[in-house]
Amino acid sequence: MRKYVIMGVQGSGKGTQAKMLADRFDLVHMSVGDIFRWHVQNHTKIGAQVRRRVDAGELVGDDLVESVVQDRLRGHDWNYGFVVDGFPRNARQAEFFLEGFDIDGVINLELATEEVERRVLSRRICSQCGLDYNLFAHRPEVEDTCDVCQGALVARADDNTEALARRLADYYSKTQPVLELFERKEFVLNVDAAKPREEIFATVCAGLGLPNTQ
Ligand SMILES: [Zn+2]
Repeated sequence: MRKYVIMGVQGSGKGTQAKMLADRFDLVHMSVGDIFRWHVQNHTKIGAQVRRRVDAGELVGDDLVESVVQDRLRGHDWNYGFVVDGFPRNARQAEFFLEGFDIDGVINLELATEEVERRVLSRRICSQCGLDYNLFAHRPEVEDTCDVCQGALVARADDNTEALARRLADYYSKTQPVLELFERKEFVLNVDAAKPREEIFATVCAGLGLPNTQ
């Protein structure tokens, strides 16, 4: 059983690395963001609470995150282990988490703020089908138009300089104590997230002692 936590700022490719790890080693990818998106799409009560926070450019409240993760962990559909993405977000949640689970490793993807800004502020999303674009890495063929459905591409409401700066400040102030706690008790692997994703993945596998073979 392999149990990992993946951490990193927005735009660090955390979700991508978590998915790659999950696919390769049959782990369950527990993404707090995905769980919340499901609630928003299905218009649940939790979804409405999430929407309010996100539209205001804020992070979803800690207690909401905590209850959603506890529910998910109690589900126990992970036979080979899991990668938790988007949790814990503060020292209290980390303490609670470590009491319940023996974590095998914490992956911390590091990315300089200028690079985070460059990546996040160049994101676009199709207003019709929801496909993601990035004006640097994944450009649409026709400017401002979705390749798949020809819908208009728009920036997310919360992808602007001010909202991003607030989210980053919030992220660092809360996650720094989490990392310190993990560093005392667990194995933290710091990885340079500016590298290409295959290279990052290889570093993660080597650092965790996992065989990186197809
Ligand atoms: Zn589209």
